[in-house]
Amino acid sequence: MLLLFAFDHRFTFVVNSLWLLPQIVQNASIGGRSKLYPWFNAVICFNQIYIVYLLGCSENIYQVEPRYTELMAVLAVLLFQWVVLYLQSTQGGRFFVPNQLIPGYHKYIVTVKRGTTPSMELCSICLERLQDHHSLSSAVGNLTDLENSDIITAPAEDSIQVMVTPCKHYFHVHCLSSWMEIKDYCPVDRSKLPPR
Ligand SMILES: [Zn+2]
Ligand SMILES: [Zn+2]
Repeated sequence: MLLLFAFDHRFTFVVNSLWLLPQIVQNASIGGRSKLYPWFNAVICFNQIYIVYLLGCSENIYQVEPRYTELMAVLAVLLFQWVVLYLQSTQGGRFFVPNQLIPGYHKYIVTVKRGTTPSMELCSICLERLQDHHSLSSAVGNLTDLENSDIITAPAEDSIQVMVTPCKHYFHVHCLSSWMEIKDYCPVDRSKLPPR
């Protein structure tokens, strides 16, 4: 039935090749790094073989004209879905969604001028001054492993990067990063911290 319909309507096969789309959507709704199931996805895609055969083999059993453009489109869509799934497994399920659009997103890392509030205050985790420079150099190394971390750009000489919670408590970047790997509440007032 689908075959008859598909041959009357060009590019129905392309839409039909979106078999991995539900998994992509699910990964995005869960967030975090999704697991890649290469064999499961290969089985899901296996039914595309007959489409490749029909569109690409000039002497197929249905005696239909091969449609190479459509074949290329089907293969491109399949490849694209595989690439997205792979990126979701390495970059996180929402890597294509801008952070600002994610519900509950909070931008933790901010750049503040050296010598202004809150950079004069203490980090409540290590009890050292926020503007002490060691926080920055060690923080950059620490952050490379972190998922969905904000992009660190080198701040100007007179400014420092600190982390601020939604409850407006300030910390060294590496102090709060390490803390958030094991806890999900603010070290000062224990209010819940949104994921970063
Ligand atoms: Zn600290
Ligand atoms: Zn707090």
